[in-house]
Amino acid sequence: MSIRVDIVTPEKLLYSGDVDMITLPGTNGQMGILHGHAPLLSTLDIGEIVLHRREGNEYLAVSGGVAEVRPDKVTILADIAEAGTEIDEERAAAALERAERLLAENPPPHQVPEIMASLRRSSLRLKVARRHHGPRAEGMRFEGGSNA
Ligand code: ATP
Repeated sequence: MSIRVDIVTPEKLLYSGDVDMITLPGTNGQMGILHGHAPLLSTLDIGEIVLHRREGNEYLAVSGGVAEVRPDKVTILADIAEAGTEIDEERAAAALERAERLLAENPPPHQVPEIMASLRRSSLRLKVARRHHGPRAEGMRFEGGSNA
């Protein structure tokens, strides 16, 4: 049985549809939610949302927000979220490089959490974007073993 998922950002309705399962990054750990789940509210960490569907999984990057779980519906109010298809990889790679450079320059301690969060967001965006853009390349690497 499927469960309804609505994902909203401050800008738009990012996703609305039925899925077999949704996994999301709760601040107390990754959660997998199926139809019939007990009601709960959870805050969200920086992490990946996976929409598990028979016709193929969909991956999204989320950074903060709240998830409301009801037995037949999950509503996610995200602070920041992007679908894998809309992630700009070059922008994420530049943000990652910037964060790594800032960390290497011994920043004042009060700036470290913000830089670390930027590093986590940009790494996550690259991972999620590559799930969309690179599955064939990844498959070939496994089959051919050319990276051994
Ligand atoms: P960072 O803080 O990691 O350096 P940033 O400041 O460029 O990145 P965020 O503050 O994380 O961006 O997000 C601001 C807005 O830009 C959000 O709406 C987010 O969805 C969007 N965004 C940020 N990076 C990307 C990206 N690589 N591709 C698509 N949208 C992005």
